Amino acid sequence: MTDPARTDRRDLLILGGGLVGMTLALAAARKGLTSHLVDRADPKSMLEAGFDGRASAISTASWRLFRNIGLADTLEPFGCHIDSIAVVDQMKPGRIDFRPDIHEGSLGRMFANRQLRTALYEAVQAEDAITLHAPVIVKDRDAGEFVATATLEDGTVLTADLLVGAEGRGSPTREEAGLAMARWDYSHRAIIAGLDHTKRHDNIAWEIFYPDGPFALLPLLDKDDGTHRSALVWTVDEKDAAGSLKMGDRAFTAEVQKRMGDILGTVTLNSVRSSYPLAFQHTARIVGQRMALVGDSAHGMHPIAGQGLNLGLRDVGALVEVLLEARRLGLDLGDAQVLAKYEKWRALDAAMVMTATDSLTRLFGIPGKAASAARRLGMAGVQQSGMLKKLFMDEARGITGDTPELLKA
Ligand SMILES: Cc1cc2nc3c(=O)[nH]c(=O)nc-3n(C[C@H](O)[C@H](O)[C@H](O)COP(=O)(O)OP(=O)(O)OC[C@H]3O[C@@H](n4cnc5c(N)ncnc54)[C@H](O)[C@@H]3O)c2cc1C
Repeated sequence: MTDPARTDRRDLLILGGGLVGMTLALAAARKGLTSHLVDRADPKSMLEAGFDGRASAISTASWRLFRNIGLADTLEPFGCHIDSIAVVDQMKPGRIDFRPDIHEGSLGRMFANRQLRTALYEAVQAEDAITLHAPVIVKDRDAGEFVATATLEDGTVLTADLLVGAEGRGSPTREEAGLAMARWDYSHRAIIAGLDHTKRHDNIAWEIFYPDGPFALLPLLDKDDGTHRSALVWTVDEKDAAGSLKMGDRAFTAEVQKRMGDILGTVTLNSVRSSYPLAFQHTARIVGQRMALVGDSAHGMHPIAGQGLNLGLRDVGALVEVLLEARRLGLDLGDAQVLAKYEKWRALDAAMVMTATDSLTRLFGIPGKAASAARRLGMAGVQQSGMLKKLFMDEARGITGDTPELLKA
């Protein structure tokens, strides 16, 4: 007799349908792997305007992944190219310009997270190989010797060959697997807002470093009426965050304008403000018995370099590639050696990006004139060095190291 609550067995059981979880389900499906995709949030509320007002810098490699899984036509009209990145210490003289040669292409594209989420959700809905279960509550997860299962609150038991934790920073899959995690709090919050401005951004992403944290201006496409727009990510001390959020629009805009000078002309707010706590967290072990982690479940970093999602998308490319190879060889997708290969592949990239991001945050956070002078001297050195600049730009594009096939041209 069959158990009516037990659904068909899939290749993957992905817990967490955020940007990384949805991309994994789609990338796997395009290569013939089936999945259950599970999220506790209601997809409709996740697509609402106020749910996630952030914009993400999508690297060249991540864009190739979206293109390779069939999202280019949907997303292309929304992407704003980043042609160069300007790095400044507190608006003082001397800056580094990361501007690639014309034949090298842009440094990435900016997308509103809402646009990414909508495109992914619509593609997931249209894909037969994916069954989306949302909103649901997962009561139990089990990655056993022979099968991975998740029991939902209504008693439904989802089964698959491999359990994937994609629930973000607080991943219960990671917690239950008992994987040790390095974590520290930056005692900072990122305040997010949308800005209209009178001058063109010329597709430049600005990183202006203040001792409290970076102040980033990220280019977005002009509105239909020609109004210029950018996304603001302003890192403030945790103790100042509530005040910055409560400030009236005019006072807030005046503070913003003070920190960015006349770069973009006169600015006005075009959205509500929201904030995100900032912490570093990293697990060296990202696999367990019949289980793997992807995205922020495995690594959460400061948004200073816009690398969190890009790193998660590289997890996706690597995991799918390793699983396809296992399938070709007739191996079980939850096989320990298959998962060990995924973990080894991702280890160096994740450690490097995490360390570089953390060092940058600390370096520019050192207060005082002497530190600022030393930094500007270092920046002048980088500005002169074509080789160093190329290295940084390749890193920003996500094309260094052993790139998974799905993220190649
Ligand atoms: C201010 C800011 C700016 C950023 N800018 C950039 C950028 O420019 N470029 C970049 O690459 N990265 C950027 N990042 C990082 C990026 O946003 C994250 O790395 C990325 O969103 C992580 O996606 P995820 O799918 O792994 O996790 P999440 O987005 O956290 O998604 C997790 C999903 O799991 C679901 N979930 C959670 N718990 C459960 C559960 N128990 N059961 C079922 N479902 C569950 C949630 O509902 C959610 O849908 C930024 C981050 C911040 C804070």
